[in-house]
Amino acid sequence: MKEQEKRIVLDTSAFIAGLDPLSIQLTQYTVPEVENELVQHSLPWTRFKTAVELEKLRIISPDPHCVEMVRVFSKSIGDLLFLSKADKQILALALEFKNLGQYPEIITDDYSIQNVANKMGIKFVPLNTFGIRFRFHWKLYCPACYRKYPADFTSKQCSICGTTLKRKPIKKTPLED
Ligand SMILES: [Zn+2]
Repeated sequence: MKEQEKRIVLDTSAFIAGLDPLSIQLTQYTVPEVENELVQHSLPWTRFKTAVELEKLRIISPDPHCVEMVRVFSKSIGDLLFLSKADKQILALALEFKNLGQYPEIITDDYSIQNVANKMGIKFVPLNTFGIRFRFHWKLYCPACYRKYPADFTSKQCSICGTTLKRKPIKKTPLED
């Protein structure tokens, strides 16, 4: 593999876990929706904006065809419900790079992204590779009526309105040995 054909893709969890794009030598890539998942003026958000300004991080909207392929594929393996819009875009962007003959590597601690990437033959790199060791806590909620559910809630539908539930990383705690 030629180093110049490696494409590092950063998902939301990479920023929330504290990864600073400026600490990585290669230019990195992400998708527009990731910015929406970051809390404005938080440290991850500030790092995101700074890296974009310095052209260390490029925001690319993936080809809609690739987004659709990710949707169909993740549905077939049962991970679709756990992927946010940003997650699907991240996977689609990596797929697009792969289809172009490049070598995408998604930096993520999100299990669903890792699972789908793995099954699509796309490489992922967990954040502990970068010395970041955090565990995420997820919030499960209904995107229609905003009712909150415990993270281990077994149904994938809102018990009030029947809408498919979504999840979001809310906080991180250091991993224990
Ligand atoms: Zn609901």
